[in-house]
Amino acid sequence: MSRSQMLYDLQQTDLELESIAQRLEQIATRLSEDSHLKQAQQRAAEAEAKLHGCHVQTKDLDLEIRSLTQRIEADEQKLYGGRVTNPKELSSLQNDIAALKRWREKKEESLLEAMEAEETAQAQLAEARTALAHIMEEWQSTQASLLAERERLEERRRELEEYRNFLLSSLAQADIETYDRLRARKGGRAVAGVKGGICQGCHVAPPLHQIQQASVGVELVFCNNCGRILHVL
Ligand SMILES: [Zn+2]
Repeated sequence: MSRSQMLYDLQQTDLELESIAQRLEQIATRLSEDSHLKQAQQRAAEAEAKLHGCHVQTKDLDLEIRSLTQRIEADEQKLYGGRVTNPKELSSLQNDIAALKRWREKKEESLLEAMEAEETAQAQLAEARTALAHIMEEWQSTQASLLAERERLEERRRELEEYRNFLLSSLAQADIETYDRLRARKGGRAVAGVKGGICQGCHVAPPLHQIQQASVGVELVFCNNCGRILHVL
């Protein structure tokens, strides 16, 4: 393999390694993103708590109504049982019964409202749970595909690093230094391919004899215009 070919390969390897590192960083960020899921979980938990609250309320009202009914029945038994004969006591009993019945009516209205609220809360909980299941499914499938992609990239990175080590061990130290120096100065691209007689680094045509010299590959040839190492593709 010619020197320029090895340097060109080293550059392609480095560029791919860079883009892999970037992508792996993105993947790490995305893998840690679960705010959507957490929000959905939060909403479902809230809906559940709300339904529980409604349920407690209907139960309490129901119990209250039952106990009022018992008191009304007991008073009515007293009223119609014949044991109470004092007119004053009878009329007070009647008043009590009427008051209890009004009170019970109010509670029954409240119970109806509470039952409606419970129904609404039940529907909201079902909705929140469906949304959560959907988001969970989506999240799991995204996680799975990101993990699979990460594995592929890590495998590819190992291959590239191995090849990079091979190139470094095959290249002369001076060439590696030239490559590193140019790479730092030329936006990560020390080597320019020559395609159709044009330097791909600056899109200027180098003189023919330079291209010929570059394709022989014994000496490193530099583009007169952009200063990069020329490698004829
Ligand atoms: Zn050039």
